[in-house]
Amino acid sequence: GGPDSRRGTPRRRLTVVSGPSGVGKSSVVGQLRKLNPDIYFSVSVTTRPPRPGEVDGEHYHFIDRATFDRMVAGGELLEHAQFAGNWYGTPRQPVERALAEGRPAVLEIELQGARQVRAAMPEACLVMLMPPSWDELVGRLTARGTEQQDAVEARLAEAERELAAAGEFDARVVNADVREAAEQLLDLMDQDFK
Ligand code: 5GP
Repeated sequence: GGPDSRRGTPRRRLTVVSGPSGVGKSSVVGQLRKLNPDIYFSVSVTTRPPRPGEVDGEHYHFIDRATFDRMVAGGELLEHAQFAGNWYGTPRQPVERALAEGRPAVLEIELQGARQVRAAMPEACLVMLMPPSWDELVGRLTARGTEQQDAVEARLAEAERELAAAGEFDARVVNADVREAAEQLLDLMDQDFK
């Protein structure tokens, strides 16, 4: 085993990673995937069009609004929310299956969804990923270049709201370094602090 083989299976069964757009959630969660392949990472449904390089079924399940509405009506989503003009949701069944198999599960979702998970599953561990500073976040979001200017502004407005809710979370992790942030997340998943 490598340096990571010392780590046991995280005791925290369901972990929610939230944080403002541009904070690096995907990078940190990607690193977490490398650190512990036993974790189940939820693949959300979204009505947002794919960005270049995004693969259907891998980054998201890209669906239309009618399909999304049907899933909501059928109770197929564990949580769902509108974000910057698009709809997002977590398919319930794969998460429940993973948890039933004893695998820890990680959801990477925004604030409104995190609150729904908190209400439905109080034992879940909610972690907010924080930028080292506001300026750093603006820089990252602008430099990413995946969004039009008005979309960047919508995401910054959401970011302000998300950061204001940091106190509602069980823990906050500053993403100054992707690997360190992922290791802190894994440590949190190993703890019972409730
Ligand atoms: P993006 O469009 O940048 O991929 O995601 C926009 C925001 O939606 C991010 O904060 C992301 O974490 C969040 N998000 C992605 N999937 C879901 C989901 O299934 N539910 C909720 N509530 N938010 C999600």
